[in-house]
Parts: sequence; structure tokens; C-alpha cells
Amino acid sequence: MTRRPMVGGNWKMHLDAAAATALATDVAGGIGADSLVDVAVFPPTPYLHLVAEIARGAALQVGGQDASGETQGAYTGQTAASMLFDVGCSWALVGHSERRHGLGEDDALASRKVRAALDAGLRVLLCVGETLEEREAGRTFPTVCGQFEHSLHGIQTADLERIDIAYEPVWAIGTGRTAGPSEAQEVHAALRETVALLYDARSAERIRILYGGSVKPANAQALMACEDVDGALVGGASLESEPFLDIVRAAFPPEHS
Ligand code: PEP
Repeated sequence: MTRRPMVGGNWKMHLDAAAATALATDVAGGIGADSLVDVAVFPPTPYLHLVAEIARGAALQVGGQDASGETQGAYTGQTAASMLFDVGCSWALVGHSERRHGLGEDDALASRKVRAALDAGLRVLLCVGETLEEREAGRTFPTVCGQFEHSLHGIQTADLERIDIAYEPVWAIGTGRTAGPSEAQEVHAALRETVALLYDARSAERIRILYGGSVKPANAQALMACEDVDGALVGGASLESEPFLDIVRAAFPPEHS
């Protein structure tokens, strides 16, 4: 089975309405109506609707950077997955390290968010990754595979069809430090093995595992050439269209690059 590559752009809490409009317009124009790669952007919540309108007609997908684990009610400041769907999103990021480590969100909360997002009709990009301390203590594999397992608590094999993973070492996010291709590959392979153990071989073969952490045009191709690296989740380099589109092109299957 060949997995279709995916590149995501996480805009975090950057840009304003005018800049988001310009960036989305340039990215949508650069991709066109048909792409060899799945491309999604994750704009700040207030700009989701306008970016989704621009993305319509292009092969550009839009997602929320987070989704509530609750469906509706008195949850000030949260955004229900159904609201993301309603404004044109097809994705939710869940478990980004800036929520796990910045806001203290745990695997139990991530699993409720995954469930809510799937129930609302969204696809999920589940982020996992170890801190530098965990890596140096030799705990990379148990940390990321444990995050995967516990963040998907209660998720059945059929649900897995709408889930992909982003391996994002915390020490590489926004730092300019990146995992080398072989460091990334070994964690991706361990994650795929975990999917096979917890689910089945077919799901392990199908699931996409993106790498994230200071991906730039200069390192994207080497990372995405690894057997188990199926694309990239990009933060800083997704805030301008040219570097982001260069990374999208780096994900093209070899015969097209
Ligand atoms: C991210 O936020 O998911 C990310 C990978 O950021 P950066 O590319 O800036 O390291």
C-alpha cells in the first residue's frame, strides 16, 4: 500500500485577518484544484471560516488547532468539533505539545477530543512527542507510543481510518533543531509497530505518520524520504507561502519531484 503524503501548516497564534487571507489565497493558488499530496492548514480559530471559504475549490483542506472534548454547553473559550465542521473544517489537531506541555493537557483529555472530533465528522491529526529530558533518559519510545495508546483509549479499528499521527519531538518544535532522518525514522517505525500491536497490520500499513519539528525546505526532502515518514507538520515555515509550497513539493512522490 502506498500512503498518500500529507503536509500540514500549523499557523498557531500568528497572523491577522488580512495576512491569513493573503497566505491562504497564495497557498490555495499554489496547490490548485488537484494535488499529489494532501495539504491542510490549521489557522487560528477566528480565521477558520474565511480560510475555509478561500480553500473551497482548491485541493486545500482546513483544520482547527484544537477541538473541545465536550460537544456543547457552558465551556467558555472552547470550540466544539461540530463548530469546526460547520465552518468548513475537515481536520482537528489533537494533543499538540503546546497544549500538552504549555497547558497541561493529558492523554485522557486528548482521547475525549479525538472521540468528539471523529463524532463530528472530522479527521484527526494526533500529535505525540517526547521532551528533551525524556529523550536523554532513554524514554523516547515508551513516551510517544504510550501517548499514542492512551490518547486513543476506546478508539476502535474502524475509527482509525480517520486518524493520522504527527510525531513531533518537543525539543525540535520552534527551536531550529530537528531530528535527523534516522532519528525520525526509528520513532516512526516504532509508532507503526505499536499500531500493528494495538490494532492490526492493515491499519499500521495505512496510517500516515507525519514528522514535525523545525521542518524547512532545506531538510524536508531528506526527512520525507524515510520509509515511515509520510509527510510533515510545519509551524514556522508555514507562515509564508513559498517555503510552505516548497515543502509540499518536497513531499511529491519521487517520479513527480
Ligand atoms: C508545530 O508547531 O507543529 C511545529 C512543528 O512547529 P515548527 O515547524 O515551527 O517547529
